[in-house]
Amino acid sequence: MPMNVIIVGGGVAGCYVGQLLRKKGFTPLVLEEHSEIGRPVQCSGLIGRETVDSAKVPFPRHVILRRIDGATFYLGENHFTIERDNAAYVVDRGLLDKHFSQGLCINCGEKVISLENGTQITVTTTKDQYTCDRLLGCDGPFSVVRKEAGFSLNPSFYPAAQYIVRLAPEDDFVHLHVHPPFFFWLIPETEETMRVGYIGPQPVSHLNRFMERKEIRGKILERQAGLIPLGYGEIVRKRIALIGDSACQVKPLTGGGIYYSMKASEMAAQCLEDLRDYEKAWKKNFGTEIKICLRIRKIYETMSRKNLTRVFNVFRENTSIIETVADFERHSSIIKEFATNPIMFRLVGSAVRELLR
Ligand SMILES: Cc1cc2nc3c(=O)[nH]c(=O)nc-3n(C[C@H](O)[C@H](O)[C@H](O)COP(=O)(O)OP(=O)(O)OC[C@H]3O[C@@H](n4cnc5c(N)ncnc54)[C@H](O)[C@@H]3O)c2cc1C
Repeated sequence: MPMNVIIVGGGVAGCYVGQLLRKKGFTPLVLEEHSEIGRPVQCSGLIGRETVDSAKVPFPRHVILRRIDGATFYLGENHFTIERDNAAYVVDRGLLDKHFSQGLCINCGEKVISLENGTQITVTTTKDQYTCDRLLGCDGPFSVVRKEAGFSLNPSFYPAAQYIVRLAPEDDFVHLHVHPPFFFWLIPETEETMRVGYIGPQPVSHLNRFMERKEIRGKILERQAGLIPLGYGEIVRKRIALIGDSACQVKPLTGGGIYYSMKASEMAAQCLEDLRDYEKAWKKNFGTEIKICLRIRKIYETMSRKNLTRVFNVFRENTSIIETVADFERHSSIIKEFATNPIMFRLVGSAVRELLR
């Protein structure tokens, strides 16, 4: 008898892992609480080129809205630009999830409310009850699977807000305004619209003040809000695995989770028989990166404005190093490079080195 698999959540993690399992001959059932896949959108859809190039399910053209050729970083009026042709893409997140969901067996409008882990796993929803041999919790930051199955992973949550604004982008660059604990962003979407957002406490009032300050007067066409879960820990309990935001598979320095969700999905689909191998593979490939970036985040969040300015200036004066070593999907590469750089070492080296150990 083939294994019976239930996936809770039809976001990017749930639909992508579902698609990979389907290719392997399984018929997973996806349970999604919303009435439609891909709605509501709570994402800026900025992904590195590697996400698209390495995907096991190809991205169709209509999902990619725009090509990004670099980023300008700001600290107050101080700024610098990193250029790299075709470094990233802006995708339509709703269409991406829909694309990954094609051909899957999905019950929309059905929320999972509890689990029982006996000889089989019993899943109770708002409409029915199911049993399965493997359960994949792809149910986002507030994961019911994580809570009900008693995972020890305990995320820190950062609220986020984003507006889609009618405003013609001036270039194909992302504009990031440093503002701990994260940053404000302006991401070109179409020829006429931009995505403007912020992650941090009271994100809506911060975002409104930012729009005032920067005199961003375009009409707000859509308002989105969501949560970024950060942390590191247990992602497998016997026959139950967490994938995506439920597992805090999110880059700690930017909050980006699409790439990690997809890489984790690929590993989980390979290790369905013994899910402990999925946890091992995930931690082997991404554990050190996440732990380093969580430590850097701590430094960033507690840094004085004076030190933040000094670090920012070191980056500004060394853009060529950043252009050479920066990796959209692995942020620790750049931090490691700068931590061993004599100028940076003089400024914050000992603290950073201590944390990188
Ligand atoms: C404002 C914002 C901007 C972002 N921008 C980017 C970006 O530019 N690039 C990037 O890489 N990442 C970005 N992220 C992060 C990215 O959106 C997430 O990492 C990604 O969506 C994780 O996918 P997921 O499938 O794990 O979770 P989700 O996309 O949250 O999907 C979870 C699904 O599970 C469903 N669900 C939840 N509970 C239940 C239940 N009990 N029963 C049934 N269904 C349930 C939900 O309805 C949802 O459809 C952003 C996040 C926010 C908040």
